[in-house]
Amino acid sequence: MASVKTTTLPGGIINRPGSTIDYKTGTWRVKRPVVNLDKCIGCLICWIYCPEPAIIKRDDGKIDFDYDYCKGCGICSLECPTKAIRIVEE
Ligand code: SF4
Ligand code: SF4
Repeated sequence: MASVKTTTLPGGIINRPGSTIDYKTGTWRVKRPVVNLDKCIGCLICWIYCPEPAIIKRDDGKIDFDYDYCKGCGICSLECPTKAIRIVEE
């Protein structure tokens, strides 16, 4: 197999640890999650599955969203065991 040498990195890759925080993926979101705090039990399963640093743990143990980083993928809503998160149009 022939190798390809390049001096530049293609876009869309993680080129150093912690770089996710530099990219505000919420800027191109068309849908967003909304949490019903009455249903949230603070299990943080949504936080485990979220692919972005977009879920914040509140002081009361429940969650909130950082919409600068939420891209509206809906994974949190699918994984929440109590169906506390719904996805709405922006
Ligand atoms: S997965 Fe659902 S119940 Fe668990 S912390 Fe997230 S919103 Fe709350
Ligand atoms: S919609 Fe996606 S990016 Fe936004 S909080 Fe849920 S899992 Fe994270």
